[in-house]
Amino acid sequence: MLNIVLFGPPGSGKGTQSEHLIKQFELIHLSTGDILRVEIAAQTELGVEAQKRMDKGELVPDEVVISMISKIIEKNKNAKGFIFDGFPRTQAQAEALDEMLLVHSTKVDLLVMLDVDEEVLKKRLILRGEKSGRADDVNIEIITNRINVYRSLTKPVSKYYKKQGKSFPINGMQTEAEVYSDISHVMRKFVK
Ligand code: ADP
Repeated sequence: MLNIVLFGPPGSGKGTQSEHLIKQFELIHLSTGDILRVEIAAQTELGVEAQKRMDKGELVPDEVVISMISKIIEKNKNAKGFIFDGFPRTQAQAEALDEMLLVHSTKVDLLVMLDVDEEVLKKRLILRGEKSGRADDVNIEIITNRINVYRSLTKPVSKYYKKQGKSFPINGMQTEAEVYSDISHVMRKFVK
């Protein structure tokens, strides 16, 4: 298996780059944000609870997302690998992911870190909100909160991977094609 964590702040292009990567490398795209939005649309109990946090720009509890991811990994034991997009977002999630993968004798191979300045992120998210109407993209206070949550809870998680020599920083302010070219360059080192 080839398992990649696409890491970076909200609006750094994780979803966009995942779309390209799944086509080229035939990996399963696992976006916790997308899965949660499906639950919200279906108004499941999980979705209703998650929405309260998401609409404020806060994180959904670790045990909720960890259990979602665990079920999907379980169902796709024979996959070529996964792209984790928006997960892990806390240290507890990172450690849980390691355990889940270890059960299947696999691991996180690399973390791709998309670096984008905060001012650029805010502009991108406002623009995305105008197009998609996504509740957490339309309001600057919620956007700012998400960026702050990223800075305090999520960004430190990258150190966990850096210590293991698995972190690859990429300039996420280049064009979409340039960012993708940099990511595939890194990925090729891991594909046999
Ligand atoms: P973005 O990265 O652009 O903010 P996502 O779709 O990844 O968008 O996430 C949207 C929201 O979903 C987050 O603000 C958070 O509330 C929730 N969420 C997504 N992934 C996680 C996660 N791994 N842990 C906790 N909450 C999450």
